[in-house]
Amino acid sequence: KILAGVPSRLRIGGDWRDAAGGRTFAVTNPADGGELMAVADAGPADAVAALDAAVTAQEAWAATAPRERAEILRRAFEEIHARRDELAVLITLEMGKPLRDAYAEIDYGAEFFRWFAEEAVRIDGGYKVSPNGRGRVLVMRQPVGPSLLVTPWNFPLAMATRKIGPALAAGCTVVVKPAEQTPLTTLALAAVLEHCGVPAGVVNVVTTSDPAGVVGTLLRDGRLRKLSFTGSTEVGRLLLAQAARTVLRTSMELGGNAPFLVFDDADLDAAVDGAIVAKLRNMGEACTAANRFYAQRGIAGEFAERLAARMAGLRVAPGLDEGSQIGPLIDEAGRAKVGTLVDDAVGKGARVLTGGKPLGDAGYFYAPTVLADVPGDAALLSEEIFGPVAPVLPFDTDEEAVALANATEYGLVAYLYTRDLTRALRTAEALETGMIGLNQGVVSNAAAPFGGVKQSGLGREGGPTGIDEYLETKYIAIDV
Ligand code: ADP
Repeated sequence: KILAGVPSRLRIGGDWRDAAGGRTFAVTNPADGGELMAVADAGPADAVAALDAAVTAQEAWAATAPRERAEILRRAFEEIHARRDELAVLITLEMGKPLRDAYAEIDYGAEFFRWFAEEAVRIDGGYKVSPNGRGRVLVMRQPVGPSLLVTPWNFPLAMATRKIGPALAAGCTVVVKPAEQTPLTTLALAAVLEHCGVPAGVVNVVTTSDPAGVVGTLLRDGRLRKLSFTGSTEVGRLLLAQAARTVLRTSMELGGNAPFLVFDDADLDAAVDGAIVAKLRNMGEACTAANRFYAQRGIAGEFAERLAARMAGLRVAPGLDEGSQIGPLIDEAGRAKVGTLVDDAVGKGARVLTGGKPLGDAGYFYAPTVLADVPGDAALLSEEIFGPVAPVLPFDTDEEAVALANATEYGLVAYLYTRDLTRALRTAEALETGMIGLNQGVVSNAAAPFGGVKQSGLGREGGPTGIDEYLETKYIAIDV
């Protein structure tokens, strides 16, 4: 019944259109592998049509009153809440996460519309006296222009709102290209935005089974002014290289390899609670997921045992089942990768405290897993696991913990548990990441700057600077 109300066609200009040639592709349910519905499969010509619409709408959208843009976003925030029951089921159906996680994503995702509704009317500039005393420096901000937003499958609503919110607030029109695994939520969101008064051509959506072809076509088009991408570091590198051709403005939210440090003075109950959230929110399918657990030697054994006991007690079931706490992974490729990483670690001597195997006859389930005695050369310490697997390793000194945490090309987020304020701040300053969870397992917050350093990305989403990603600075020189 919910699926019947979801658009299945491309959103281009003010219309819902079939893809050229009427092509479609199937969206499947990761809980059972079954087909949910077919959606339009855009090709390069459809991508160009979507950009045409965004380019046509750009000037008028940039000229709308900031207050008007703000009110549209605010209405969309409210409308997402009004439709939360159907949106939650839709997220769970196509992505797999337990229903209660889908509700959490809706609360989080809607916040970006509220936050950027508030920011749309706070775009400022400057006026200052030049050092020579005669000149004046007048600075204004203007929208970057038509923007391509490429989103991943793990948070189908929140990753879209986190980009659409600031883009619209700044006065940019957009083409959204959702992940092929989860196009339905984005299409439903486009319908919400249409309902809330977003003018034709301001938000266009191209669903496709050929992301390289569609995105590649758009990145070659000189009319595109901005790319915002969330996904793997591997694809991010490819897109950065392509963006270089037109010297495109880019925002990149890429992979992570988050360390979770537990010092011997930590509140162990809080550390285990935080570890469960940092590891298992979204089944571990988050760029912010704790990927490596380092516990100080005196408490490492107890921490690992307690984490394993908690993880063993979780209910693994289809996300729509009553009481499901862990849903399926996104697809067979995702589950196979997790299995390969666990087998590699076990083959090199790691000990399985719980889990360590796929589950169920249908769907892509993997058991919540804790590994102890993980050798330093296990692949899962350097690769993003993207599944419910927690390797636990001991450390001795604070310096060693920081060195281990920083020994990665990634730098998105780190988690840190200690009751000693000086130790916490010293460690937080030394960690090479864009974000730190201090005695807490979640950092995501629409009001905070989300983003990474090193190969985890470029730019920040959310917070007071999130809108800057969609604004250019223009300086006007005046002599008075
Ligand atoms: P994940 O590994 O989490 O699936 P990806 O980086 O593969 O992450 O996907 C993130 C987004 O990038 C999705 O929207 C996907 O369709 C898109 N994508 C994947 N490969 C390419 C590519 N070669 N060119 C452009 N976009 C791509």
